[in-house]
Amino acid sequence: MKRLLFDRVFEGAGEMYRIAEENLKQAVAELGGSAPLVMPNSAYFLANHYTYLAKKITTLGELEDSLPEIRAWILREQRLENAFKAGFGAFLAAEVIEACKYARSGEPYEQPFHGHLSDAEVRELGVPLVTGDLPGFVVIIGPAPSDREAAELIKGYQSRAIFVFLIGGIIDQAVRMNIGMGFPVRIVPVGPDIWSVTHIISFVNRAAMIFGNVQPGDREEFDHYTFHRIRAFVNAFSPVADIVVACGGGAIAMGFPVITNDTTDTWPVPKSLIIQEDTASFIETSLEARDIKIKVTNINIPAAFSTAFEGEIIRRNDMQIDIDGSRLDCFEWVRGREPGDITDHAIELVGPDIDAFEAGSRVALGVIVDVAGKNMHSDFESVFERKIHHFLNCIEGVMHTGQRDMIRIRVSRAAFEAGFRAKHFGETLYAKMKDEYSSVIDKCQVTIYTIPEQLKTLRAGANTAYEARDARLLSLTDESVGVFYNCILCQSFSPAHVCVVTPERLGLCGAVSWLDAKATNELDPNGPCQVVTKERIIDERLGIWEDVNEAVSQASHGSLQQVTLYSIMQDPMTSCGCFECICGIEPMTNGVVIVNREHTGMTPLGMTFSEMASMTGGGVQTPGFMGHGKQFISSRKFMKAEGGPARIVWMPRALKDLVAKKLNHSAKELYGVDDFTAMIADETVTEEVETLAVFLTERGHPVLNLEPLM
Ligand code: SF4
Ligand code: ZN
Repeated sequence: MKRLLFDRVFEGAGEMYRIAEENLKQAVAELGGSAPLVMPNSAYFLANHYTYLAKKITTLGELEDSLPEIRAWILREQRLENAFKAGFGAFLAAEVIEACKYARSGEPYEQPFHGHLSDAEVRELGVPLVTGDLPGFVVIIGPAPSDREAAELIKGYQSRAIFVFLIGGIIDQAVRMNIGMGFPVRIVPVGPDIWSVTHIISFVNRAAMIFGNVQPGDREEFDHYTFHRIRAFVNAFSPVADIVVACGGGAIAMGFPVITNDTTDTWPVPKSLIIQEDTASFIETSLEARDIKIKVTNINIPAAFSTAFEGEIIRRNDMQIDIDGSRLDCFEWVRGREPGDITDHAIELVGPDIDAFEAGSRVALGVIVDVAGKNMHSDFESVFERKIHHFLNCIEGVMHTGQRDMIRIRVSRAAFEAGFRAKHFGETLYAKMKDEYSSVIDKCQVTIYTIPEQLKTLRAGANTAYEARDARLLSLTDESVGVFYNCILCQSFSPAHVCVVTPERLGLCGAVSWLDAKATNELDPNGPCQVVTKERIIDERLGIWEDVNEAVSQASHGSLQQVTLYSIMQDPMTSCGCFECICGIEPMTNGVVIVNREHTGMTPLGMTFSEMASMTGGGVQTPGFMGHGKQFISSRKFMKAEGGPARIVWMPRALKDLVAKKLNHSAKELYGVDDFTAMIADETVTEEVETLAVFLTERGHPVLNLEPLM
């Protein structure tokens, strides 16, 4: 006779608890109760303890204190609410087990296992989740009946752009089947044991705190958020042990259905626990259960196309050709044309094809995409052109970086052997441009050039066009345009957040400029970007407009009443969590420290990016801290109310190099200072505030002449 599901949840949770207790006892005996507990690159302590118990655990001893509480969560009583609670208890116990590993060694996991996910990784998923590029997550608990079935399932999800987490024996199967894994390709082998599931739950809970501003301890809100905003589900292969069932109970309570082929000792629960004996139908059943619809564009190329391949890296040894704009004449260029001048779907190659070059060689290549349509406007050229990176990167076996005449494209040997040739760049660009911009692009033709002499002239022509565009962009200021735009794309994830996008202040994700927002609005008038008028100014210095406030209040459903566009101290703009950078005030030097997402080290604020980010997200205003795009740093409107970019006292080296040219230009214009970035400290100078102050004085940094910030 089948056992009741509740019984199995309580059994499993009890088992997890006993393992946790045992592990913790050993760890305390070895390391002592005061041994520190830190999860790498996270500002959320043990995130599940923080979520469910509102406890900031920092030592093994504190973890011991929470054991009785966990125990109380898994007490057996035949009520649904308690079974769910026992599921969460299992997650907490699992966190205890994993935390002990991290207490013993900062990096307990070795290849291929990933273990804990960093805060930066949580945030990185924010953008694709809101844009729908990432339709959902699956957690696969294995092993599958055979290696082949394991590979088919994983690949099947990957080709549908579903993010895949793997736990247990399926990881060995994936390794045997040579599946490329890792965070960038969206297949993460978490750990060999079921308790590694705690890292995924921690990941989800941090997303709720970061993007949804859900407060620690508010379990109902967490469940609400995960149910409505995170489209996740579980695939568990037979035989499913009680300890896995316990975790399944927790997953179901979070709104994540469990699909399994285990028929022996499992009862189905409508919409939540679904028995699917045919593992080949797991994908279909799962997507249906979580109501995920996958949009597919058919592109006529001999390679797979999916956002899952965006992070794919093609190494030197695996490449067929290397199109290298840093050494040869290469470019990509979108031109608006008159409809009569171009032929729709004409794809032409001028010069030798990929197979004419020796394997592994460096090749010069240029692409011109001509588009026409009655709503086409020259301002859209750069918007479409920047999408080339995304479109070509989604081809399996193609890696694209850079833009304009500084591009690099690699085609893998595998793609080449499958028949991939130059015209397939054209097919891809044609299909995606027409698909995504159907309201503007009526006709599209693509020409690809590979003759070096010809490329030289064409590249010069492209450069003239880029320069003209840049000049137009520079002439766009907040004062010179009639309207701003808002962007609420991130509300699907961060319900109270609104970005106001102006010519001199792009969206904090760095992906939405004023021109992008304008294009988005014209392409889809009911879409995420709406016109914001700016007729009734209240305060020019701070950047307050009555009409902007009204728009923000409406778009945030009343949760925001006033924003300033140019101040970090007074009613600053909110952050959703996908910011490229954060700046935070540094009181001793009277300046601000900026740190970008990629920088994992310490800052003079005594906080890492993660720690600063934990104070900044969730769609709430946090004076003194602000998320922003990289390009905003050199804007004349950056903290204009507080004195502008002259407040910047520290930035990571790489970020400084990236923005140096424009920032130095602005500083020269604003303050008459030469080589401003040389006055800004970085991690090679110091990470301490005392030495920072000395450095600034030595260099005569302009912040020394500014009024106190507070
Ligand atoms: Fe999200 Fe703002 Fe970027 Fe829009 S502009 S996608 S709301 S971060
Ligand atoms: Zn966002």
